[in-house]
Amino acid sequence: VQDAVAEDIARFEESFRNMNKRYRLINRIGEGTFSTVYKAEDLLYDHYHNDWDIDARLATKWSSPSKHPHRRRQTRYVAIKKIYVTSSPLRILNELELLHDLHASDSVCPLITAFRHADQVVAILPYFQHRDFRDYFRDMTVGDMRLYFRSLFTALRAVHAKGILHRDIKPTNFLYSPQHSRGVLVDFGLAEREGTDWHFCDCNLPSGDRRLKIENSVYAYNLVNNGNLPPSFPNPKTDQRPSRRANRAGTRGFRAPEVLLKCTSQTVAIDMWSAGVILLTLLSRRFPFFHSADDIDALLELTAIFGKRRMRETALLHGQAFETNIPSYSENGHGFEKIVVWCTNRKKEALGEDEREACAFLERLLECDASRRITAEEALAHQFIAAAEI
Ligand code: ADP
Ligand code: MG
Repeated sequence: VQDAVAEDIARFEESFRNMNKRYRLINRIGEGTFSTVYKAEDLLYDHYHNDWDIDARLATKWSSPSKHPHRRRQTRYVAIKKIYVTSSPLRILNELELLHDLHASDSVCPLITAFRHADQVVAILPYFQHRDFRDYFRDMTVGDMRLYFRSLFTALRAVHAKGILHRDIKPTNFLYSPQHSRGVLVDFGLAEREGTDWHFCDCNLPSGDRRLKIENSVYAYNLVNNGNLPPSFPNPKTDQRPSRRANRAGTRGFRAPEVLLKCTSQTVAIDMWSAGVILLTLLSRRFPFFHSADDIDALLELTAIFGKRRMRETALLHGQAFETNIPSYSENGHGFEKIVVWCTNRKKEALGEDEREACAFLERLLECDASRRITAEEALAHQFIAAAEI
């Protein structure tokens, strides 16, 4: 493996002339769907005069334990993100543009610079020391979780304040250092501005009108099930309308119900749902918690927890019909306390006061109706996060 990495690094340096005059590549640290990331030393880093720009911030806050960066020679490490040439230029531009927009945002990994050589684009980010989620998620106390989410919601508040949806919140995109109780958000490869490609969805109707529409749908639904199909109601088997299209970018297991239900007016609330999935993972000690292959399976996984009634209501919210004849799903679903108890093989009495508090907070994140889901700003003010110590 080490040989393969060395070879890969050599090939990269070869393909990107002069790269090794500026950076000394040290290791390959990430290999994702859209990029390969290397750790490198910045050889041209101005070691002594660094109190005038973002470099200073990074050096003092992140890279160096020294309190006097101007007096001590330091090394700056960077993460070089080599974006695969198969990514569309628009997609690459989008990522760099959003990162640039977020450069001053709290807990968001800033873009130092970017280079292009022929069709290859690389982004240079400050290297952030963190630990692999898989190494610590089983050992986190509820106190640790408060700190983790305080950091994550600080980042999300900044991103959402700019009207940007990250779209891919998950542990590998939030680089967290348990030692410092601090993390940075990375990977804006799927991010977008709220309102991009916005189309009206029933969930935008005022609640009164929506209620009426839902009642009509339920009425129509009952007619369909009784075999009395009203002429105006489309029969799913013969429906000729084009199927609905909506952005569903993200990672399986972390997609909010409105993404799975093809809502055409998705908001930053989808990121809060994904954060909720991380909290569920931590409380249940199961990673990944959801693991469906496709969106239909993902909806069924949610049904196992939230029950058929809530899934029907959520689907109707977005003008969709949801029905399943799998008999094992309950009508009303299960509370998170019960799920955490099951997943950790305990009896209900064994849940601590702090875990029950976490479950109550989780309910606000994994709220199926996006318009009622807690926002990052509200989450930071919530008792669960406000009680974080340090
Ligand atoms: P992709 O779009 O391929 O998922 P990411 O931006 O998520 O790319 O980076 C992939 C991985 O590289 C991350 O999960 C992380 O392990 C590592 N990484 C990315 N940026 C940094 C950074 N600034 N500091 C340290 N490691 C990083
Ligand atoms: Mg990633």
